[in-house]
Parts: sequence; C-alpha cells; structure tokens
Amino acid sequence: MELSHRQDAFRHLNIMCKREIKKFLQVPDNFTIMLQQGGATMQYTAIVKNLIGLKPFKKAMHLKTGMWSNQCFAELKKYSEVITVADTITANDCTAMVPHDQWKIDPEASFFSYCSNETVNGFEIPWETFPWHLIPKDCPVCVDMSSNIGTNHIPWEKVGVIYAGAQKNLGTAGCTVIIVRNDLMGKAAADTPILCDWETFENSPDKCYNTPCVWAIYVTGLNVSYMNQQGGLEHYIQLAKQRSSMIWSFIDSSNGFYKTKITDSHYRSHVNICFRIQNGDKEIEAQFIKEAKNCGIVQITGHYFNPGIRISMYNSQPMGGVVYLISFMRQFMQQHTKHSSLKYAQARL
Ligand code: PMP
Repeated sequence: MELSHRQDAFRHLNIMCKREIKKFLQVPDNFTIMLQQGGATMQYTAIVKNLIGLKPFKKAMHLKTGMWSNQCFAELKKYSEVITVADTITANDCTAMVPHDQWKIDPEASFFSYCSNETVNGFEIPWETFPWHLIPKDCPVCVDMSSNIGTNHIPWEKVGVIYAGAQKNLGTAGCTVIIVRNDLMGKAAADTPILCDWETFENSPDKCYNTPCVWAIYVTGLNVSYMNQQGGLEHYIQLAKQRSSMIWSFIDSSNGFYKTKITDSHYRSHVNICFRIQNGDKEIEAQFIKEAKNCGIVQITGHYFNPGIRISMYNSQPMGGVVYLISFMRQFMQQHTKHSSLKYAQARL
C-alpha cells in the first residue's frame, strides 16, 4: 500500500485503528496507545530502557514462566540488574506456578514484568488470582500479552504497560500494540535506542517517528473494527472460554491417552493447549500430526522447547474448528486404543 504516512488518508487509518483498539480493549483515557514495528520482542528492550530510571537502584523484577519470558529476561539482563521473582522453568519445567509466598520481591525494583500467556508452554496466568498485594505500589507492572490479548478483561487500574504483536488476536504481523500509562511516558534513559523511546515516538509529527507499518495498521484496524461489530471483547472472552473448555474437558475424559503436563489446572491456557499423546510416544504423536494434516488440521506440532502437540486458538478460530478437531481426536484415540488392546490381547495368546 503506497500511501504516504504524512497524508490524511493514512492519518485517518492510524487514528481509526487506535480508536477501535481502545474500544475493544476498553482502554481508559489515562493510557496512550502506540502502534509500532519491531514486535513484542522490541518492547523487551523498550520496557527496560523507558522504565529502569524510575528508581535510582536500576533494578528490574521479572517472572520466568516459559520460553517467552525467558527471552525477555535475557534482554532485560543486558541493560539492568534483574531480580528473578520466581522461575518455573527450573522449579518444575513450567508445569505449575511457584507458590506466591516463595516469590522474591525487591521493593527497590523500577518495574515488574511477566508474560500473561506462555504461547509455547500453554501456561496462562489469570488476572483474578495474580498476587497484586505483593507488588509495591510504585512498581509498574508490564505485561507481554502477545498471545492472549483480547481474550480477557485487563485490570487497567493495576497495570502500567501492556504490549503485544497484533498478529495473533487483533490483526496481522508487523503491527505491535503498546499501551502505556501516561505517567510512565517521558522517563526513557538518555541512551535509549530511538525506536524504543515511547515519548519520542508519540510526540513525533503524526505520532510516527519513522515510516509506520501502513498495511499492517490498516488490516489491524479493519479486523478490530469487525470484532467490535461482532460483540466486542465480551464476545471474544466467551468464545475463548468455550473453545478451551471443550478441548480441556475432552482431554480430561480421555483416560490419560491425551495428557497435559500442567499440574495446576488453574494455569492451563485458554489459547494454546499443549498436550502429549500416550505419555509422549513420539511415533504416535508423529502419526497424529500426519493424520491431522490429511484432515486439514495443520500447525499443531509442539515447539522444541515444549515438544508434543500444541493447539493454538486465536480470536479468529470458530467453534466449528474446535468441534472438528475434537471429533478427529476422538477417532484417533479410538483407533489407537483399539489397536493397542488388540496387540495386548494377541501378546497374551
Ligand atoms: N511473547 C509471546 C508470548 C509470544 O507468543 C511471541 C511470539 N509468538 C513473542 C513474545 C514475540 O513476539 P514478536 O514475534 O512479535 O516479536
């Protein structure tokens, strides 16, 4: 799309996209919405460079719960001292939350960061039971919501920064949504990379420091507008609940044929459902993926960091897709349990 970003046509698209996002996510007026490039990954650098100076000790607090928060940790660490509040990777292979009374809280930290839904590990941290009382009042909470934005109500009165690539639940790749509480703007360190400096970006002409992702902003605006017309956030929260509860209850009724390693069901993701088949039988899992592909069910291979099967269901996933998947999973299970009980009976003869 060859529109100049300094002309009205794009100005309107940009404003429209942010308005639709504000409406959809119910963002209050004391937050600034920015649409940038660089993905959620660039915001790892941005949060530390913009916020580390909030206190003189130059420390960050970070919660590690899976692959993405681990990557974020590595980036924060380049620029500041980072207190690991809890680390479920080493504690329990991302299968449960470290008990809140074991969290290491440092009141000297400038900010607290975490990932609300670990896309690769299928580990989601619900807002309702987050231990807000542990976080010092002057320590803004920064949340990577790349995979579960638009599937739950954000408690705006409790958070400082929310960021997410648009590509999963809101729009298309290339557009990153960054929502910052206004009092946190304008605090960037002097050596902040220019594209990570929120205040500079927001105060630039047309609220774009450099060429924005014109096409991705256009498509994201259209899609969020469509989601608002479909019933808005409430509608998509209900869909996410329905999709995930259908699959989780099917998995739970499969007598261990399908099994998740997440031991505390409270942290099971509504968006990325990760499980193993027959206790991680690689041959059967490969067959499952192959047969699923033949049925038109694709991209369900788990990540190397968390092998097995991963079913990702973002806001565009219709209920029909879930019903179809469950009927495939049921048939696959029936075939394989029949097959293995036959093998077992033959072995006994
Ligand atoms: N955080 C999470 C939770 C993610 O799922 C992803 C991408 N899958 C990222 C960060 C990285 O996002 P991006 O590719 O937009 O930089």
